Amino acid sequence: MFREGFLMARVFNFGAGPAALPLPVLEKARAEMLDFGGSGMSIMEMSHRSKTFNAVIKAAESGVRKLLNVPAEYEVLFLQGGASLQFAMVPLNLLGAGQSADYVHTGAWAEKAIKEAKLVGSVNLAWDGKSDKYMRIPAASELKLAPNAAYVHITSNETIGGVQYKAFPQTQAPLVADMSSDILSHAFDVKQFGLLYAGAQKNLGPSGVVLVLIHKDLAERAPANLNTMLKYKTHLAEPSLYNTPNTWGIYLIKLVTEWVESLGGLAKLQALNEEKAGLLYKTLDSSAYWKPCAHKDSRSNMNVTWRLGNEALEEKFAKEATKAGLDGLKGHRSVGGLRASIYNAVPKEAVEALVSFMGEFEKKNG
Ligand code: PMP
Repeated sequence: MFREGFLMARVFNFGAGPAALPLPVLEKARAEMLDFGGSGMSIMEMSHRSKTFNAVIKAAESGVRKLLNVPAEYEVLFLQGGASLQFAMVPLNLLGAGQSADYVHTGAWAEKAIKEAKLVGSVNLAWDGKSDKYMRIPAASELKLAPNAAYVHITSNETIGGVQYKAFPQTQAPLVADMSSDILSHAFDVKQFGLLYAGAQKNLGPSGVVLVLIHKDLAERAPANLNTMLKYKTHLAEPSLYNTPNTWGIYLIKLVTEWVESLGGLAKLQALNEEKAGLLYKTLDSSAYWKPCAHKDSRSNMNVTWRLGNEALEEKFAKEATKAGLDGLKGHRSVGGLRASIYNAVPKEAVEALVSFMGEFEKKNG
């Protein structure tokens, strides 16, 4: 269905998000840009209530449902406001008066979720990775979960620190996850969760859409006086079409799910992602020149973080890498260092090129 890529000046993009999109997806979007399906207009120019767009949003939903094997009792929503609005919507809908929610603090993104929840109600910090500088994921046995928590919130992959859950904790209260930076990168059981959300701009599509999977029962918890747009229930009634959604973003998510399917689905992609990350971590472990940040058992397959001896050298690395066509390797501005984001759309060849560049860099500067 997708055309093969052709020669052009595209860099290897290791940016953390908005991030690389699959080239076949971009090509298909370009081909359909001016006249979508014989409509004489682009998908961006037509009504979100048209038959044509309805088919697109249904296909995006069924693409997500099929890849993640989403049970019927969950709704698939494409909302706006990014993962950042979900930090607020989750407690606004699920944290009732007098209740408390458990939060696992694994880094910068968990911290933002915690901050928003505290504005709504009471938060029990079930674990705080501060003493390990947020460089590891806790074992389930380390979590201090409250007996009557409204829900338990985790961040499946910390995009800045580069730590990722390898297995999810089993919890009595509904488990809620921010999966912004590792959704669709590996297979997992949706039934373990009450709700999960993911900003699209890493593995799903462009920014401006956030995917929400919610068990329909949970949507009933919202207080009656919660504003209409902030209520999950509103968006369930006519899925994702209460107001005008990001039609272009949803269309691209449809294309991305078709691309993942064409590669053989999540199991195939997971193996490829493990292979890509393995190549990079092997290089980082090969000499003391490289200083990988995350604890070994918590290393992210999506965001690989490391340091060099000093900041000037890190600066030099990022600059020379960019010149060599390896873009976006500078660590997040809040922590510095180096980071390679190797999401689904970053090909193995990009990681091989990076590893080879690292070998040369060490020879010259080691
Ligand atoms: N959570 C995680 C794990 C993220 O990586 C990001 C963005 N990088 C966010 C939340 C915030 O997402 P948004 O900018 O879409 O609000």
